[in-house]
Amino acid sequence: SFSADVVPQAPEDPLFGLMAAYRRDTDPNKVDLGIGAYRDNNAKPWVLPVVKKADEILRNDPNLNHEYLPIAGLADFTSASQKLVLGADSPAIKEKRVTSLQTISGTGAVHLGALFLSKFYRPNQQRTVYFSDPTWPNHFQIFSNVQLPYLTYPYFDKETRGLDFDGFINTLNNAAEGSIIVLHACAHNPTGVDPTQEQWKEIAKVIKERKLFPFFDTAYQGFASGDLARDGWAIRYFVEQGFELVIAQSYAKNFGLYGERAGCFHFVTSPTSDADSVTARVASQLAILQRSEISNPPAYGARIASTVLNNPELFAEWEANLREMSGRIIAMRKALRSKLEELGTPGTWNHITDQIGMFSFTGLTEKQVLKLREDSHIYMTKNGRISMAGLNTHNIDYFAKAVDKAVR
Ligand code: PMP
Repeated sequence: SFSADVVPQAPEDPLFGLMAAYRRDTDPNKVDLGIGAYRDNNAKPWVLPVVKKADEILRNDPNLNHEYLPIAGLADFTSASQKLVLGADSPAIKEKRVTSLQTISGTGAVHLGALFLSKFYRPNQQRTVYFSDPTWPNHFQIFSNVQLPYLTYPYFDKETRGLDFDGFINTLNNAAEGSIIVLHACAHNPTGVDPTQEQWKEIAKVIKERKLFPFFDTAYQGFASGDLARDGWAIRYFVEQGFELVIAQSYAKNFGLYGERAGCFHFVTSPTSDADSVTARVASQLAILQRSEISNPPAYGARIASTVLNNPELFAEWEANLREMSGRIIAMRKALRSKLEELGTPGTWNHITDQIGMFSFTGLTEKQVLKLREDSHIYMTKNGRISMAGLNTHNIDYFAKAVDKAVR
């Protein structure tokens, strides 16, 4: 018999615990560098102007209702999502090799992909999942929940605070055939370190040679560099190389639709397959999984994104909004590096501007992180990751001086 007495206490989610500690702090100078959400120069959440416009259009639509979406979600949204991630003229789309389902943001897309693979990918054979070390911690939980065993590949080089490319390639070369390799498409979370295009080519080559399976997680397209094609390059290159692969796509960051949970899962079948029939079978199984898990996805966030993605004028405006967010973050990287260098803070700080996207792995130790929290009311995760979006022209001097003090 079962008694709830046997349920052990689980640890608090470290990131959400950090957010709660920040909210409790009453110091007027407190700085939140924990949460991975964009903030404007006044440390406030930013509703993208183009999202406000789309919202207005939807609210004035007399035909808008609250009916269920289809199991696979809003068709205009999923087809626009394919074009966004693969490129509008992608042969994979033309050849009908892509099947896509709207999901509960990026998390739901990673989960649906993991669940599908756990059920259909090499059943009864070895199938280890590889994550970068470090990775978004939720990857571990999501894949464990569907009983897929995992290992990690070296990724971050603590010495250079850049990519441990040799370690990465070496591990891929030694991975068992059929292993699933989870790859961050751009703006790697938590390090901000991405492979160069030349390195991606090498990674693709080894993945092909070793018969590994690429699983792309793309949560920052357009948000990293401000250029959608550039941030989508790695995925498009892999598809060009003829891989069968999956993609988990989030609209949380690049549309600022965090709580609306808009995302998409894509399965791209290989060019040599009998595309129509394989894609249809994959789609039919994904639909059953989706039905049993969420029945059908939430409508509003997808409607907003779809309104923008399918209207050339709004799309161009969205790109400008993306450049504003990424531009502010890149400016903060430059400012932080030069302030630390001016202060003569011990260590090198070029990694702050070499890294890209929402996060920077500062190299601060856990002890220094805790000191910053205690002495200066600055909140970041214990691994020394900072959300660049939490910095602005009002707090960057304060932050640089506090880091300088903590490091000395
Ligand atoms: N993958 C990575 C690497 C992420 O950083 C995030 C956002 N923190 C996600 C997936 C998914 O986030 P969401 O479910 O909010 O779209």
